[in-house]
Amino acid sequence: MKNIILLISFVFLTHSLIAQTNNDKPSSSLRIEMLFPQGKSKALIMSYDDGPIADKKLVKLMNDYGIKGTFHLNSNKLGTKDYVTREEVKSLYTGHEVSVHTANHPGLGDLSKIDITYQVVEDRRALEKLTGNTVRGMAYPFGNYNDFVVETINGLGIEYARTTNDSYDFSIPTDFLRWHPSIHQFAKAFYIPNDTANDKKELAIFYKLVGDFIKSDRLALLDVWGHSWENEGTGNKWGEMENFFKLVANRKDIHYTTQIDLVDYINAYKNLKFSVDKNLIKNISSMDVYIKIDGKVYKLASGAQLVL
Ligand SMILES: [Zn+2]
Repeated sequence: MKNIILLISFVFLTHSLIAQTNNDKPSSSLRIEMLFPQGKSKALIMSYDDGPIADKKLVKLMNDYGIKGTFHLNSNKLGTKDYVTREEVKSLYTGHEVSVHTANHPGLGDLSKIDITYQVVEDRRALEKLTGNTVRGMAYPFGNYNDFVVETINGLGIEYARTTNDSYDFSIPTDFLRWHPSIHQFAKAFYIPNDTANDKKELAIFYKLVGDFIKSDRLALLDVWGHSWENEGTGNKWGEMENFFKLVANRKDIHYTTQIDLVDYINAYKNLKFSVDKNLIKNISSMDVYIKIDGKVYKLASGAQLVL
């Protein structure tokens, strides 16, 4: 044990000496960037709403391809026509995230404070009972929200809320209660029935963004949202989903995650403790955090301190 401590001290001391002799710029000018877990530069999130029966097919496809999903459910709709049952929730979504979509799916922008609170807290409570897990995320029904809604849900144990305002980029959310996704599944293809020209145009937009994501060498989050029921009906939309999964699955540079896991990771990164000179960085969280300092990748294990 003593040898290990000495070895670690030596590595840090050596590093520190090199930094002092070779580094001609002050530590405070270091360029420090977040990386995703395992030092990956890309992350994929699939954010799906409503809990329809078609989720069973989507979850199976995700499991086959090793892709994780976040599923926003309306607890009062579970077990009604075309929705998964309450009994199915725990086993169906194992390995994925279950999140709030309100108890009854109203547009929250028209509701009073007490009604918004009921819709969110009641859904949280019911989903926590069904899953045996804390439920801390949300998607706004119909993408409907305003400043009053955000102010009301803040303090109800909701740590992020996804909108339907597509960003068409790979930005990391900075305001978690106004989390704008990258793009709807297949962009706006299949919105209009039997409009193949529009489908072609929108699919091109979708696959251009996916291609840019795969090619990107910068920190990039692709956050796709939709409803599994959109893949039912005419056309081979399940085949399209599988085409998309084939492009993005099983890639070493992509971290496959849920929304709440990413929130926890970003919070761990934000909570790194820096010394005044920025040469000491302590990770006080319960998860390993990966950072890039002036282009070099570092792993900060949970509880560890990095000495530069
Ligand atoms: Zn919905």
